[in-house]
Amino acid sequence: MTPETLLPDTVLTFYPIQRSSWPDETGYYAYTRLDTDDSMLLDGWRVQALALLQTGVSVGDVQAALGVAEEELQELVAFLIDGHFVQSLGGELLPDAAEPIRPWLAQLPPERLTWLLSKPLLVGLSLFVASGLVLSLRHPNYLPSLANFFWTEDLFWAVVAIFVVDLVSTALHEAAHFITTKAVGAQARIRFFDNRFLDLVMVTEHYHLILVPKPLRYYVYLSGMLIQLVLISGLLWLYWLAETLGWDLGLWHTLGQVFILVTLLGLLWQFNLFLETDLYNVLADFTGHQNLYINTKKRIGERLAQWQTSHWRWLQTILLKAFLSEDVVAQADEEHHLTTRERRHIHHYALLLGCGLFMSLLSLLLVQLPRDLFFLWKGGQLAGAALWRQEGLALGKALLMMLLTLYPYLGVGLIIFAKLRRRQSYL
Ligand SMILES: [Zn+2]
Repeated sequence: MTPETLLPDTVLTFYPIQRSSWPDETGYYAYTRLDTDDSMLLDGWRVQALALLQTGVSVGDVQAALGVAEEELQELVAFLIDGHFVQSLGGELLPDAAEPIRPWLAQLPPERLTWLLSKPLLVGLSLFVASGLVLSLRHPNYLPSLANFFWTEDLFWAVVAIFVVDLVSTALHEAAHFITTKAVGAQARIRFFDNRFLDLVMVTEHYHLILVPKPLRYYVYLSGMLIQLVLISGLLWLYWLAETLGWDLGLWHTLGQVFILVTLLGLLWQFNLFLETDLYNVLADFTGHQNLYINTKKRIGERLAQWQTSHWRWLQTILLKAFLSEDVVAQADEEHHLTTRERRHIHHYALLLGCGLFMSLLSLLLVQLPRDLFFLWKGGQLAGAALWRQEGLALGKALLMMLLTLYPYLGVGLIIFAKLRRRQSYL
């Protein structure tokens, strides 16, 4: 049975669906399927029609009750089927193409975490961050420089420190996203390996955020950066206390500086709107253009495909694989559905995206690569010397140092390779 063959006595059954408590500013209610991340927006009589259909009222009765045309109701049913909301049609089970989600701590009641959303806490944390900023202006010597990457003669420990500190900082950032997502009543899980352009990243995957009011969504996006800023502020105050009271923090002082350096570089990276960062999420939500990233990728891919070139064919191929793939085309909004405003967003965002790509490349070439090539070169020297003197422990340390340096590059390489094999765009 298809929507075109609906009979007046046809009854539909649905998967578990949840509706947002309030409509958004344009009058649309958000709906999401709870065992997947399928979502849709409905307004007007469609909201009532879905509510009636969900209680088992037949198509003909809904039509009569709401006084809508047959074709319009058929269109709605087709839309609901496309959105993977409908389980059966006239007693006939429909094939389910939806992708199930596997959220973490799905059973944990959000009420346990709502204290995280309290205003006094947020104001307190913001003031604490501001106090740290003031302190850093008055004592700029507390802040690290790039030289802090190389804080010890024994470069093995320098590399281990960067690795561990980066892991801790990133894990705290993602944990903050995860916990605030739970607190606002949505679901999430953390993916440990993903890439944004040439960077290896951890990502918190959110589900059902569409049901959450906008200001709370911003909080979810920004919570990761907030917790990192709070920690930096805490460290700066610790340095101040140590200086004032004459404490010797020893190694902890150095590790704290590496933490601040790695975290500040990570925070700068968040401004790289190109890479679907937290600030990108805020921007996309602010403009109300949920599919901004995918839509822009598709548009750029289409432009690239039109590029007539023989000299730069290789570059065209690489870039096309970066932006365009079947899943991008499938997920993007259809061209004729885009409003003028949305087209303008795509145009502006494409420019930001170009800047971001450039910035990302620059930070890779100017900061990461020189540092890592230095570590690799030194690691190679140490390994050679250890081999010559037949010192097993020293050889192990040198090899581990090289592996920890190479690990992000290997990770990104493997992920891009896997995405290309699945015929996905790799950006
Ligand atoms: Zn984040």
